[in-house]
Amino acid sequence: PHHTEDIRLLEELDKKHFLHPTSSIQQQQDEGPAFIFKEGRGIYLEDVKGNIVIDGMSSLWNVNVGHGREELGEVAKAQMTKLAYTSSFATFSNEPAIRLSAKLAELAPGDLCATFFTSGGSEANDTAYKLARHYWILKGEPERKKIISRTKSYHGVSMGATSATGLKPFRDFTSSLAPDFFHVDHHDPVALRDLIEAEGPETIAAFITEPVQGAGGVHIAQANYFKEVKAICDMYGILFITDEVITGFGRTGKWFGIEHNGITPDMMCFAKGVTSGYAQLGGVMLSKELHDDFKKLSTGPLLHGYTYSGHAMACAVALKNIELIEKENLVENAKLKGGGLVEGLHWLQENKKMVSKVRGLGLMAAIELSDENLKKVQIPISSSIVNEAAKRGLICRSVTFDGQDTIVLAPPLIIKKEEIEKVVLLLHDAIDVVERKK
Ligand code: PLP
Repeated sequence: PHHTEDIRLLEELDKKHFLHPTSSIQQQQDEGPAFIFKEGRGIYLEDVKGNIVIDGMSSLWNVNVGHGREELGEVAKAQMTKLAYTSSFATFSNEPAIRLSAKLAELAPGDLCATFFTSGGSEANDTAYKLARHYWILKGEPERKKIISRTKSYHGVSMGATSATGLKPFRDFTSSLAPDFFHVDHHDPVALRDLIEAEGPETIAAFITEPVQGAGGVHIAQANYFKEVKAICDMYGILFITDEVITGFGRTGKWFGIEHNGITPDMMCFAKGVTSGYAQLGGVMLSKELHDDFKKLSTGPLLHGYTYSGHAMACAVALKNIELIEKENLVENAKLKGGGLVEGLHWLQENKKMVSKVRGLGLMAAIELSDENLKKVQIPISSSIVNEAAKRGLICRSVTFDGQDTIVLAPPLIIKKEEIEKVVLLLHDAIDVVERKK
């Protein structure tokens, strides 16, 4: 652990200079950082005070292979000292980006075959909207520019991605969003058809969806939902885009979340798990048909690209990360341990009146809380439980959008059976304490 004075200094500097994403600025000023992490090993994180906690969220649903993986550090160092970065614009290329794009084509569902790289998920989403619109320009239907997404969806925070995000508080945070974005009920295919009819199919470029809605509270679509919306998109010639930023790279017990639904997208966004968070990388993949159309119809340059598109070090890390996922059977492990996690949460539901619903697919899970008897509480029950859990050594997340009172979990895919049990017991104890306090 650090000396007390050093910790105090770090806390003061944090308050003064570090503007945290999604923080309550007031709370941050009053309380300072809850954890200043300094080290990670597997599913565990250690802070500067010496507290050790289970990273039950894989940080932001992304540290799939767990913390502290030497192999990834070594690959990053080797690539950085040889060639950390060079441009991928126009005709410049580099070996890790080439090899990664080929590997992704091998892994991705259907005939997704060509990747446009970005630095993260929001950029991947914006890229998808722009490529979709550009596609329709090339196809001679430039009026097709509307993008439809689902309520409770989260697609990121760039202007386009915020506009697509169905969780209203994210949109309300800022004024004047991007035009031509629409949202439909997240469980009802008929709502999609009605919106398309009302807006005019000839004005709609694409529909985008997470295979499992993550930040919105781990919402899993009903059995035939995706088949039906895909059929609707096909009927009206609308591009079907999946946002696999969370669900990609094994999280749901398959390589990509949409594989549970027996359909394949025209485009697929990914980020997070592609590097398990060891480097900043995302991208969009195009189906063979779209890629062929782009090749056939483009007359000028593809005027879109980020400085870090195809970053050599990030791509080298991604390749090694994918190798680890394959070698250690982590996709299968997510399925098996995910089953165990949901079982454990059902046990919680049986034992704790507060838990009213359990959801899960692979290592993405949620419990919904009913606070029937506790209506008058000021802060949501889920927040109190999450705080208690953190004190006891488990990081999980409270979701309170749309009047929900939900706790979500997404531990690293390397998690072991006994660690799953520990997670469930810690959550049980946290609920116990909150129950007693009321
Ligand atoms: N799409 C989904 C489904 C996400 O969960 C996220 C981030 O949580 C994003 C997009 C945005 O990714 P990033 O934060 O890397 O920009």
